[in-house]
Amino acid sequence: MTTHFINNERVAGSSGESIPVLDPSDGQVFAHLARGNAEDIRKAVAAAREATDGGAWSRLAPMQRGRLLHKLSESILAHHDELTHLEMRDCGKPVKQAKADTTAVARYFEYYAGACDKLHGDTIPYTPGFAVMTFYEPHGVTGHIIPWNYPMQIFGRSVGGALAAGNACVVKPAEDACLSLLRIAELAAACGFPDGALNIVTGYGHEAGQGLADAVGIDHISFTGSARVGTIIAQSAATRHLPVTLELGGKSPQIVFADADLDEAVPVIVNAIIQNAGQTCSAGSRLLVEASAYERVLEAVGQRINALKVGPAAMDLDVGPLIRANQLERVNGFLSGAKAANLRTIAQGSIATEAPATGFYAKPTLIADVPVDAKLAQDEVFGPVLSAMSFKDEADAVRLANATEYGLVAGVWTENGGRGMRMARAVKSGQVFINNYGAGGGVELPFGGVKSSGYGREKGFEALYGFSVLKTVVVKHG
Ligand code: NAP
Ligand code: MG
Repeated sequence: MTTHFINNERVAGSSGESIPVLDPSDGQVFAHLARGNAEDIRKAVAAAREATDGGAWSRLAPMQRGRLLHKLSESILAHHDELTHLEMRDCGKPVKQAKADTTAVARYFEYYAGACDKLHGDTIPYTPGFAVMTFYEPHGVTGHIIPWNYPMQIFGRSVGGALAAGNACVVKPAEDACLSLLRIAELAAACGFPDGALNIVTGYGHEAGQGLADAVGIDHISFTGSARVGTIIAQSAATRHLPVTLELGGKSPQIVFADADLDEAVPVIVNAIIQNAGQTCSAGSRLLVEASAYERVLEAVGQRINALKVGPAAMDLDVGPLIRANQLERVNGFLSGAKAANLRTIAQGSIATEAPATGFYAKPTLIADVPVDAKLAQDEVFGPVLSAMSFKDEADAVRLANATEYGLVAGVWTENGGRGMRMARAVKSGQVFINNYGAGGGVELPFGGVKSSGYGREKGFEALYGFSVLKTVVVKHG
C-alpha cells in the first residue's frame, strides 16, 4: 500500500484502510492507496504550520525558495520516464499525453522558480510626512484539492504558485490519480525542501477531501474539480472566512465563421475535444458554425473523427481510455440520450481490437443540430463528444456561446480581425483564443473561469497574487 507524505516522510494512514488503484486501460487493480481521513489531514496541516509562521520554509529568502523549485523542476525532468509511466498506468493516458504532462509539471516549477523573487509590493503617494508601502505575504498554509484528469499539471500550477508565494502546502489528490504526485513529493524532499513545506494525503473526496476543506489551521483553499463539489468547498470555507480559488468545469465553444481557414481550424478543433479523451475542463465541447459553412465544417471535422482510433495507453493511439467505469457509463448515457432524441450522429471513431474489453473505452463522436437547451449542449460530458449547432450571424454566435452556466475558455475562428476581437470581448469566458486553441493554454497564461466555471486565477504570474495577502504598512516619519 502507498503512504501519505507528511513532513518529508512516508507516513502510513491512521485508519490502516486502503483504496484499490485501477489501470483504466484494462480495468485491473495494480496498487493500493492509503485511505486518508481527517486525522491524517490534521497531521499534515500541523506539519505545514510548523514549516510556516517562522519555521524553516518561511525563513528561506525568496531566492532560496526559487532555487529549490528550480531543483525540483530539474529532478522531475531527470525522472521523466518514471513519472510518465506512472501517469500512463494510473490515468490511462496515451504515451504522448503522459509525456506532455510530465514536461508541463517540470515547466510549472521552472516558471514559478523564476517568479519567487519578483513578487513585490509598491509604495503609495500619501499625505506629506507619511510613507506607505505594500507587501505580498503568503497566506500561510494552503490546501489544494486536485482532480484526476491532469494530476501532474494541476499540481504544478496550483502547488507551484503557492510554494513560490511562500506558502506551505497540503495536497489531497483525487483517489484515481495519486501515484505521480506522491513520487514528486519524494523528489522535492530529496531536493532539500524543508520538512512540512509540501505534504500529500491520499483518500476519498468525502473523507480526506472534506477533512482538508474543513481543517482548522489552513488559510486558503485551491479547489479544482466539479462545480458541485466546488459549492461544498466554498460553503465550508465561508464558515471560517477562508479565501478560495475555484477552478471548475466548462462547456467551451469553438466558434467558426464561414471565412475561417478550415485547414488550420479543423485539426485543432478535433484535438480540443479528444485530448485526454475529452476529460479536460477546457475541452472545446461545443462546435458553433456559421450557417453557410455548417455542412462543410461538419464534413471536415467528421472525416477526422471517423479516422480516430481509441486504445490502451501503451498503444499511444489518438485517444486513451476514460478514467473509470462510471465515467464511461456517463459518456455512454449522453450518447444514448442523443440517439433517443434522434440527434444526427455525423461521425464516430473506433476502438482498437487489441483494447481489453475490461478497459474503459469511449468512441469519439460528433453530433449535429444539438438544440441549445439540450443536456448535450449544457452539461459537461467529460468525454470525447462534440456537439454541433449553427448560428446566423455574429450576434447569434455570441448568444449561443454565452448560453451555458459555464465560462472557462472559447475559441473563435475567422479571418476578420475586427470580428475576432469583438467576439473575444463579448464572450463571457476566462480565456479566449482567436485562430488557435490552447485548451488551457501555456504555463504563463492566467487561467480560470467566470460564472459556474469558478473564480480566482491560477497559472501565470497572476496566480501569485491569489496565493498571497496584500498588507499595507503606513509609517509616519514627520
Ligand atoms: P470532483 O468530483 O469535483 O473531484 C475533485 C476533487 O475533489 C477530487 O480530489 C475529489 O476527491 C475531491 N472531492 C470530492 N468530494 C469532495 C468533498 N466533499 N470535499 C472535498 N473534496 C472532495 O471532480 P473530478 O470528477 O475529479 O474532476 C472533474 C471535474 O473537474 C470536471 O468538472 C472538470 O471540468 C473539473 N476540472 C476543472 C479544471 C479547471 O482548471 N477549471 C481542471 C480540471 C478539472 P476524490 O476524487 O478522491 O473523491
Ligand atoms: Mg488510477
